[in-house]
Amino acid sequence: MKMFTRRTFTVSALSALTGGALLSQTLYRPGQAAEPASKETYPVTKTPEEWKQSLTPEQYRVLRGHGTERAHSSPLDKTYDPGVYNCAGCGQPLYSSRHKFNSGTGWPSFYQPIEDDAVGTSVDKSFFMTRTEVHCANCGGHLGHIFDDGPKPTGLRHCINGVALKFDPKTGA
Ligand SMILES: [Zn+2]
Repeated sequence: MKMFTRRTFTVSALSALTGGALLSQTLYRPGQAAEPASKETYPVTKTPEEWKQSLTPEQYRVLRGHGTERAHSSPLDKTYDPGVYNCAGCGQPLYSSRHKFNSGTGWPSFYQPIEDDAVGTSVDKSFFMTRTEVHCANCGGHLGHIFDDGPKPTGLRHCINGVALKFDPKTGA
């Protein structure tokens, strides 16, 4: 009886250890597509609670929760005035009216960012698709996706959630 108890203990302790090791490997495996933006570090970093305080619930859902706004819901979709589109999370300039076009999708669309290094990309494999996710390079906030059916000269379509942007008409473009 004594032996049995001891062996049972040893085996379960071992499997607990093994299971624990495997679990942490799974959790920290790089390249997971679930929320790629959170695996990198950015100049602007806040806790979820701090983000919730500085963003509206819809901004938080899109920027920090990788959400998508309803098509045709953003007034910026049909805005073509000259100006700069800044990140709603951190204020960094992301897109310019010079590169905006009407994609007819219901989301603000640009064929390039205002500067190449203003945004970063990752591979998004959610919803059984492989898409290029695009986020703010300064705070990691999720902006939208990039598709290769855009107009010249890049042929790219940055399909951006308007709620992730703050339009500044004064800065000019
Ligand atoms: Zn940002």
